[in-house]
Amino acid sequence: MRVVVLSGGVGGARFTRGLLAHLGADAPGSRAPAHEVTVVANTGDDLWLHGVRVCPDLDTLLYTLGGVVHEEQGWGRREESTRVSTDLAAYGVGWDWFTLGDLDLSTHLARTQWLREGVPLQGVTARLAARWDLAGRGVRLLPMADEPVETHVEVDGDEGPRLLHFEEWWVRHRAALRPRRFVQVGVEDAVPAPGVLEALAAADVVLLPPSNPVVSVGTVLGVPGLRDALVATAAPVVGVSPVVGGAPVRGMADACLAAIGVETTAAAVARHYGRRSLGGVLDAWLVDGRDRPDAAALRAEGWPVAVADTLMVDVPAAARVAAVALALAPLALAGG
Ligand code: GDP
Ligand code: CA
Repeated sequence: MRVVVLSGGVGGARFTRGLLAHLGADAPGSRAPAHEVTVVANTGDDLWLHGVRVCPDLDTLLYTLGGVVHEEQGWGRREESTRVSTDLAAYGVGWDWFTLGDLDLSTHLARTQWLREGVPLQGVTARLAARWDLAGRGVRLLPMADEPVETHVEVDGDEGPRLLHFEEWWVRHRAALRPRRFVQVGVEDAVPAPGVLEALAAADVVLLPPSNPVVSVGTVLGVPGLRDALVATAAPVVGVSPVVGGAPVRGMADACLAAIGVETTAAAVARHYGRRSLGGVLDAWLVDGRDRPDAAALRAEGWPVAVADTLMVDVPAAARVAAVALALAPLALAGG
């Protein structure tokens, strides 16, 4: 089975790790995986820091799928120290609010060296993924585009509107400055990375994990041609709600949704994506058991909907979420 996942960082990575567990890649003694999972990652959060290129969502995917992520944090490497970034802060250099672990830094140094040699981001990502044997786990990690596309947030300043890099708004200001809008700087020059359109065209199912609908999945869909390829694929497109019990499970996704005028409910996010048959990008939607009224409302509108516990507290729980999402696929194609 060929599966494509359009992913952000933590939510998408935990979901994809569950998907791989469900598909059996982790079964002891299993031979080459029978499935092909392609993850198309948001690169809108990428930034230059201390002279190195940091790709937060690609790195979270790399470490989570490679089995070396710092589990409680959700990002960074387990058992790493912050001696280097602490020392940099003592020099007063750069952004001391953005923690870069020492092992994480090695990834950024390697990436930056290859980028400087002229290797496109997709090739760089393949080299990084090779070290963690992602292919052996049945998964291919692709950036949404090779060209830099950076999400900036327009907020009110003393002298009118000003733009902040997304990570500065999110990490430094904890999304507390009211966003007027999100801008994808550079998106007009971006094209889907090699392999992205081919994967969508050849997919048996496309999954939208419970990633941030605005600054993760929304950014991926903003790459010219990518949304059209999703709309055109013969594969069913199934999404998982990132809203559980009327709130984002972690992070401040509600601030992003509010900025684009979408309520933080499972039903509002589904309607924001829209049904493919009506000009949107989705065929079916998985809603958490804490949001049953949302599921009922969507069903009344004709949506194919499933209800399950979608909290990915560990790998088996995430595997169950992925299993329910996959089971929705045939229903999605039947149109409910
Ligand atoms: P980021 O790039 O690290 O912010 O990660 P993503 O964009 O991939 O995912 C972030 C979103 O995942 C958050 O807005 C949450 O709403 C959602 N999320 C995180 N954990 C869970 C979970 O266990 N279940 C569900 N349904 N959603 C989750
Ligand atoms: Ca992110």
